[in-house]
Amino acid sequence: MKIAFFTLGCKVNQYETQAMSELVAKNGYEVVEHSEKADIYVINSCTVTAESDKKTRQAVRRFKRNNPESVVILTGCMPQAYPEAAESLKEADIIIGNKNDCNILDVIDDYFLTGQRIFKVTQHQKGDNFIVSPISKFNERTRAFVKIQDGCNRFCSYCIIPTSRGRVRSKPIEEIKLELESLAENGYKEIVLVGINLSSYGQDFDNGLNICDAVECACSIEKIERVRLGSLEPDHITKEVIESWAKQEKLCPQFHISLQSGCDETLKRMNRHYNTEEYRQLCKNLRENFKDCSLTTDVMVGFSGETDEEFEKSLDFVKEIGFEKVHIFPYSVRVGTRAEHFENQVEKCVKEKRASIMQQECAKIRADFLKRQIGKEVEVLLETRSTDGKFEGYTPNYTPVLIENCNGECGNIVKAKIIDISGDACIGEKTN
Ligand code: SF4
Repeated sequence: MKIAFFTLGCKVNQYETQAMSELVAKNGYEVVEHSEKADIYVINSCTVTAESDKKTRQAVRRFKRNNPESVVILTGCMPQAYPEAAESLKEADIIIGNKNDCNILDVIDDYFLTGQRIFKVTQHQKGDNFIVSPISKFNERTRAFVKIQDGCNRFCSYCIIPTSRGRVRSKPIEEIKLELESLAENGYKEIVLVGINLSSYGQDFDNGLNICDAVECACSIEKIERVRLGSLEPDHITKEVIESWAKQEKLCPQFHISLQSGCDETLKRMNRHYNTEEYRQLCKNLRENFKDCSLTTDVMVGFSGETDEEFEKSLDFVKEIGFEKVHIFPYSVRVGTRAEHFENQVEKCVKEKRASIMQQECAKIRADFLKRQIGKEVEVLLETRSTDGKFEGYTPNYTPVLIENCNGECGNIVKAKIIDISGDACIGEKTN
């Protein structure tokens, strides 16, 4: 039987799709692209914004409309956070939450046995364990995302993730080691450690292990040459953590640390657990400990009650830090969060105006960053080859580089000299 996966959302979701696809392949299913004809389509959904919910609904309806005979399975964060809304999507034949992903084989068997629609969403419980479902490859990619942490205990006032993902749970370190060794055997030179609140790794353990131990474990795997960290929350990243990371040569000097706002009053209403001075110090520490370090972040504009003054403060702070890249999100009200009931919601047009102002300023900083790379000798992990024969890859600090006349292969790390800029990437000349 042919099965296809369609994934929305974050790196953790992409990892979970890979794990599900390896599970079904091991049990005799043929995994095909979602553009191909399949007997079963699995939509692994995201619910972080209203837009992600809309894309999820559209995907369920589209796959059923285009393949009325096929079985459509809806899973992921949307049904987990909003089971009623998911249940009302009649085009879905099977609905399971992200907690039930590991039971995908059973629910498919049940469906074909009974022909009955299945709705199985089990709520996350305090004390749940991390469900280990390892991967051994990462489809069509030269870099593998490896989920080592799930859930979040933070409850930022705008965020539905603690509902969709439950409390902090961490993968045992010996399981991380086994998984990375098998990925290394399969030729992966770079892995990205990912989680929902990655920096809280180990919080649920009583053995004192934390994110430093997970990084050390990953860097100890011989054939792995680069270890990258997925999105991080600022709290838990202490001076000691940074100093421990700085000892790991394989750790890439690129840190995506979610800021959300550069204004302390807004951070308070968001229930974020740091202020701008603490965030400023964190950036300073990272830049002091990591040569050629690049800092990227997420910033929300138009959060409930955000005044023009508060927005200006946030913009000034973002410019002061000088992030190499900023993902900007107009605030999206999520049902079931505290902020849903906050007064002074900001108008859509104001959010869009602020997002565009922030975008323009951040684009200038990014262009300067790319210009500063010219003349540098760098190492590039070749990832993709475009039709005109150019290779594209990334340096350790995540600078995108296009390399012409290179006889390398995807997955190889080559040396190059940055000679120019092209759009949002650098042009490199191979030197070895
Ligand atoms: S730290 Fe805050 S924003 Fe991040 S997942 Fe947890 S609740 Fe959501």
